Amino acid sequence: MIEEGEARRQILKNIQALPARRVPILQALDGFAAEDCLARLPLPNFDNSAMDGYAVAASSCRAGERLRVIGEQPAGVDRRLRVSAGEAARIFTGAPMPGGADAVVMQEDVTRNGDEIVLNVDVDTGEFIRKRGCDLSEGQKILSKGERIRAATLALLASQGFSEVRIGGEVDVAIISTGDELVKPGTTIKSGQIYESNSVLLQALLQRCNATVRAVENCPDDQHSLSEALKRGIRYHVLIISGGVSVGEHDIVKSTLLSLGAKIEIWRVDIKPGKPFLFGQAGGCAVFGLPGNPVSTFVTFLQFVRPAVLKMMSASDGELAPTKVTAQSEVDLHNDGERAHYLRGRFENGKFLTVGRQESHALFGLSRSNALLRLAPGELVKKDAVVELQLWD
Ligand code: AMP
Ligand code: MG
Repeated sequence: MIEEGEARRQILKNIQALPARRVPILQALDGFAAEDCLARLPLPNFDNSAMDGYAVAASSCRAGERLRVIGEQPAGVDRRLRVSAGEAARIFTGAPMPGGADAVVMQEDVTRNGDEIVLNVDVDTGEFIRKRGCDLSEGQKILSKGERIRAATLALLASQGFSEVRIGGEVDVAIISTGDELVKPGTTIKSGQIYESNSVLLQALLQRCNATVRAVENCPDDQHSLSEALKRGIRYHVLIISGGVSVGEHDIVKSTLLSLGAKIEIWRVDIKPGKPFLFGQAGGCAVFGLPGNPVSTFVTFLQFVRPAVLKMMSASDGELAPTKVTAQSEVDLHNDGERAHYLRGRFENGKFLTVGRQESHALFGLSRSNALLRLAPGELVKKDAVVELQLWD
């Protein structure tokens, strides 16, 4: 049995980023930048008005002053107006500042009479002007290699004139659910059978990682069927096998993988749930064997498969860890076992409370949870102590 952190390190050591690709920016959401991106333009690209109002030379502007309106400067064209003392130019939000003007007075702060305005306020230099480059300088880094691309990142790229961006490769995944007892949802079930749910869980979790599931199949626990299914599955970048990795006579995943020439790098990790976890390589495929109990599948996916998939997508090391928050435990918690225990619970209003039965088959409790708390072997958490949680939603 191997220690959890060591298992993760060993997996990641065996995983390489896939070749990068150039995609239209909207397809890059939740992908990872394959290279640094630098600003092509300052933002804003020219001094412009932050308000609808009047562009003025501030030094000649005291409350009560009358100014002559010499023209109108809308957004979208530069009318190349010039404003002198005693003058104003009508201006709109986002419009370029006329020459000679160094402030904008809000239209709410003037009274207009024909070609004249009367100022109702004093005006300070620089007021309501968005200066060229105040947000971003040309050449400044706007996206780092390995950084996740979010909605606002896409907007920033668009604002810089990028229509495409280079991101990490698309990760193709196959899923095999093993077990003689499994039946597809939507069909009738006989005594002793269960509905297959892990492939649904895995597909949803993979979708959240932006990986592409190419093949999903159920497979009975017989060596021939499994061997054929594995041969199909290892044609993809990643193969995830659910069930059949434990020590019973029907747990034939490991032996069947070995019979196909796969290299098993890891089998059994000191976490609960998820001890029988397996990782290996077959050809160029990263093979993950996840224990079939739904909570074990869930925990081992998040701790081991997700970081590997993200690394393949060119995520930086900092992006591989799950989102973490701190919370106050609402109860005493104790791990009296010898493996790290991932407790499922709810994080709400800064507090954490475990939910449901903390057993590896207990899917209902997991479905009500939104956070994992890792308790190290022997760890004791007193009520109100601050703990660190992993979030997944
Ligand atoms: P295994 O890891 O194959 O020993 O399975 C452990 C437990 O998880 C058994 O109770 C299985 O019935 C259950 N299980 C295995 N695979 C699935 C699956 N795909 N969906 C739901 N439950 C499963
Ligand atoms: Mg099984």
